[in-house]
Amino acid sequence: MMAKVGLKAEHLHRYPHMFFGGQRQRIAIARGLMLEPDIVIADEPVSAMDVSVRAQVLNLMMDLQQDFGLLYVFIFHDLSVVEHIADEVMVMYLGRCVEKGTKKQIFGYPRHPYTQVLLSATPRLNADLRRERIKLTGELPSPIDPPPGCAFAARCQHAFAQCRHSRPELTSYHGQ
Ligand code: SF4
Repeated sequence: MMAKVGLKAEHLHRYPHMFFGGQRQRIAIARGLMLEPDIVIADEPVSAMDVSVRAQVLNLMMDLQQDFGLLYVFIFHDLSVVEHIADEVMVMYLGRCVEKGTKKQIFGYPRHPYTQVLLSATPRLNADLRRERIKLTGELPSPIDPPPGCAFAARCQHAFAQCRHSRPELTSYHGQ
């Protein structure tokens, strides 16, 4: 398993403080795979890493997905990483799904105002994909005492009176 995640045999007897961040992440991945899972839930697996190490770890996880037939559920705040690796995307706000779809749908035709805000704040190398920045104002409501109606209403540039009283059902779109 060490070889599978790119560690060498001589690493076996090292102490934790002798490994770098990327190597520690490889160890964490190896430990998880020893249990032979079908599904791996990874919460911010590459946060606080520099860009080159981040790319190495993500590429390793993609290779392991092929080798082990894994299904990944990733939790990310960085949409540029999501765009790089995801097949399907769910956008959540205050603990609720506000939009879901294929990567192409979410990144190409975002429908929910919160998704549009997130994408407008995501740096893009391709100038054609850049969006005009939408500034988010207002406070994030308390998740333990959410407001009635749509939780995003206090910050949404499209909000109208009804949004503060009733929350719309999540329906399918994009021709699904
Ligand atoms: S505040 Fe209204 S328009 Fe804005 S996301 Fe919520 S339901 Fe939709």
